[in-house]
Amino acid sequence: MSQADLNAPNLFDLSNRVALVTGAGSGIGQRIALGLAQCGADVALLDRRTDGGLQDTADAIAATGRRAIQIGADVTSGAAIAEAVARTEAELGPLRLALNAAGIANAEACENMSEEQYQTLMDINMKGVWLSCQAEARAMLAHGQGGSIVNIASMSGVIVNRGLNQVHYNASKAGVIHMSKSMAMEWVDRGIRVNSISPGYTATPMNTRPEMVHQTKEFEDQTPMQRMADVNEMVGPAVFLLSDAASYCTGVDLLVDGGFCCW
Ligand code: NAP
Repeated sequence: MSQADLNAPNLFDLSNRVALVTGAGSGIGQRIALGLAQCGADVALLDRRTDGGLQDTADAIAATGRRAIQIGADVTSGAAIAEAVARTEAELGPLRLALNAAGIANAEACENMSEEQYQTLMDINMKGVWLSCQAEARAMLAHGQGGSIVNIASMSGVIVNRGLNQVHYNASKAGVIHMSKSMAMEWVDRGIRVNSISPGYTATPMNTRPEMVHQTKEFEDQTPMQRMADVNEMVGPAVFLLSDAASYCTGVDLLVDGGFCCW
């Protein structure tokens, strides 16, 4: 075994790899985008608004010495995602890493939910992940250098959150988990790994929505670790799955939930 093989920290090194992160203007996507840069990657930052947090993410990455570009695009548009991937490769180089975090959440009793509310969420949370993976994998298959994709699902794809009426959200996240496994198997012999991360309750703007705020204490009580996750705690799992440290992991859903699903 060579010394390089024994040099464990290098397993997580993302130097000179190009990454695309969706939902990079806020919350989990924003923090992971910075984390990838801190491990050496150059990062294309995609979000639907260019007047949100994208500039902050780009500034934080610039401070690490890595390159970042900002892309305003809606993940429900296949053409927009394809253009984003093309721009990423033209400006930063061959796409090797992708982290798909763009998503929304809202709540309504199933019997009262409108078709529009259901469909809008499904289009972003599930079709948006499929379109993102499709465009990212097309680029990875074309350049032949391999790639690693991580989709942000949720523990809501595994359990039903007590007190939250969000049948569409829970179903969309179960869909992301199984879609990730399905794509992992389609590309397993062509150098692309696909995994998902399922966070538990995490302190982000998504959880400041009105139906959540009064429940924060309950969420903490229901979690074995007795607290919500900090976005910083999503970086390690994402870097692990995207890096060579996870070279034998594909089709995995990694629960990062403070033990929630054990109870
Ligand atoms: P967040 O702070 O709201 O970040 C999500 C980002 O995605 C926002 O900037 C949002 O823009 C963007 N986005 C939404 N729709 C988009 C679209 N169609 N195209 C491009 N960008 C779009 O939420 P977060 O908590 O970080 O969530 C990130 C991911 O983690 C989501 O998939 C979420 O379901 C998942 N997750 C979150 C938690 C949690 O407790 N926070 C737990 C489990 C899983 P806007 O601000 O304009 O909507």
